[in-house]
Amino acid sequence: MTLGEWIPAATERLTQAGVTSSRLEAQLLAAHVLLVDRTYVLTHPEVELNELAAEGLLQRRESQEPLAYILGHREFFGRRFRVTPSVLIPRQETELLIETALELMVPVKRVLDIGTGSGCIATTLKLERPDWDVWAVDISGAALQVARENAETLGAEITFRHSDLFSGLAGERFDLIVSNPPYIGVEEELPVEVRSFEPGTALFAENRGLRIYELISEVYRDYLTPGGSMVLEIGQTQGEAVAGLFGGEVLKDLSGNDRVVVGRV
Ligand code: GLN
Repeated sequence: MTLGEWIPAATERLTQAGVTSSRLEAQLLAAHVLLVDRTYVLTHPEVELNELAAEGLLQRRESQEPLAYILGHREFFGRRFRVTPSVLIPRQETELLIETALELMVPVKRVLDIGTGSGCIATTLKLERPDWDVWAVDISGAALQVARENAETLGAEITFRHSDLFSGLAGERFDLIVSNPPYIGVEEELPVEVRSFEPGTALFAENRGLRIYELISEVYRDYLTPGGSMVLEIGQTQGEAVAGLFGGEVLKDLSGNDRVVVGRV
């Protein structure tokens, strides 16, 4: 089958499966099979596609597996991060956390990213601010492996620690602590694509998604330098609760939803 035949057929099947950007995703799946980029797919309708390989990927996407896990990567802040089912897929909303951290009007030397997952936050901060000493922790060893690999591939030097929140950081202090913790309430409704495929430990927290913020708020002062800052991603209904815990200010994302809390001590 040629690309010119496969793309429309695959687009139709993905639409039937409820995939919104079905044509784009069909093109990206074909590009993945051929090990080429999307432009090549768009400009070479006559090229033959390995139909068996393409069918396998198409069926995975039809079953709601996220495109990023099928392709094995996702763009974040203009860079490509490898992702596996052990890590949360980087989200565009999280770029607000990055911008907020980069624009803080306070001197920063040491930074900590809690729950680094794919390492997208820590790696981006290090590459945008090479003079920062960036540390990153995660409770998941499998996630840390992915984060280390991303940092290495992208050329970011980061200190990684296997740690349940601050458990592995006794005696360390940071000028800035950032985190995009699990903040979805266990009872919240989610697309199958998220609930059945992304790691539960990266998504869910008890007490309507607030539990990790509560745990961080109990001890974070012991790990911040005087005048230090917190920048936390939040769910859109959590602004008041999290700002209350950290005495901070709530910032909105591009969609106008509460998305980040900035706190200072
Ligand atoms: N820090 C990673 C991200 O923002 C992972 C976050 C998480 O697993 N909750 O994508």
